[in-house]
Amino acid sequence: SEFSLLALLGHPVQHSLSPLFQNAALQKLGLPYVYLAFDVAPDDLKDALYGLKALGFRGANLTVPHKELAVNFMDSLHEHAALLEAVNTVVNENGKLVGYNTDVIGFMKALHKNGAQLEGREVLLLGAGGAARAVACALNEVKVTRIWVANRSWERARLFLEWSRKALTCPVESLSWTSLFEQPDKEPTFREIYAIINATALGLKGEEIPLPWGYLSGLHWVIDLVYGKKGTPLVKKAEEKNIRNFDGRDMLIFQGAESFRLFTGHQAPLDVMFGALES
Ligand code: NDP
Repeated sequence: SEFSLLALLGHPVQHSLSPLFQNAALQKLGLPYVYLAFDVAPDDLKDALYGLKALGFRGANLTVPHKELAVNFMDSLHEHAALLEAVNTVVNENGKLVGYNTDVIGFMKALHKNGAQLEGREVLLLGAGGAARAVACALNEVKVTRIWVANRSWERARLFLEWSRKALTCPVESLSWTSLFEQPDKEPTFREIYAIINATALGLKGEEIPLPWGYLSGLHWVIDLVYGKKGTPLVKKAEEKNIRNFDGRDMLIFQGAESFRLFTGHQAPLDVMFGALES
C-alpha cells in the first residue's frame, strides 16, 4: 500500500504519548508511515504480533504489559533485547520479527543530555521491573561501581538480582524496601550514593516517595522515569533540595527516537518530538 504501518501494542494504551510524537516526527519528515495504537489483551499478544507479519506492518512498539512475553514470538533478538529478556521495538524484516530494546539507549541518552556522569559512582535504583532492568543495563555500560536496588516485593527483587548476575558485570546489592523508608539508619551507609533513580510506577498518580533525605546528603542526582506535565513529586522534592534532577520525558523521547530510526532508517527530529510532548 501507499503507507507503511506502525503500531503501538499495550494494555491499556489510550494514555500513551508515543502516537503523538511519532506521528508528529513522521509528518515533519514527510515519511509515508502511519503510527496507530492498539489495545491488546495479553492473551492476544501472540496473534497480534503474527498479525503484524500477515498485514505487512513495518513494525511496532510494545508497552506494559507486553515487553517480556513478546520475547517468545520474535524470530530473532537484538543484543539489548536478549540481555533484558524484554522487547519494546519490533521490526518486520521481510516477514521476520526482530526484537529490539531501545530503553537502554534511551536512558543513556537522557543521562548524556542532562550531563549526569555516573561513571565510578554508586547508584540507588528503586524498582525491579522491566524499566529497572533497562536502567541497570545502561548503568553497567556507563561503568557505575555499584547498584543498590530496592523493590517493594521481595520476589521481584530476587529475580532482578538473579538476572543481574547473568547480565551485568557491576556488583548489584539489594536493600530492604521497608527499612529503606522506615529505618534508614539500619541500612548500609548512604554516604556513597551519588544518584537515586526511580524505576517504579510511584509518582504516576502523584504519590510521594518517602526517601530518607537526611541520609542522602551527598546526592548529586535524582532521576525519575515517571513523567508528568509539571514534573513529578520526586523531581519537585529534589528541586527543593537543590539536587540536580530530571524526569522520564527525556528517556521517553530518546527511546522513541531510536525506534523511529529502526523503523524508517531516518534520524528522528528530536525537536519535533519534544515539541509534540509539550503541546
Ligand atoms: P513493571 O510493571 O515491570 O514494574 C513496576 C515496578 O514498580 C515494580 O518494581 C513494582 O514493584 C513497582 N511498583 C508499582 N507500584 C508500586 C507501589 N505502589 N509502591 C512501590 N512500588 C511499586 O513496569 P516497568 O518497569 O515497565 O515500568 C515502571 C515505571 O517506569 C512505569 O510506570 C513508567 O512510569 C516508567 N517507565 C518510563 C519509561 C520512560 O521512557 N520514561 C520507560 C519505561 C517505564 P513490585 O515488584 O513490588 O510490584
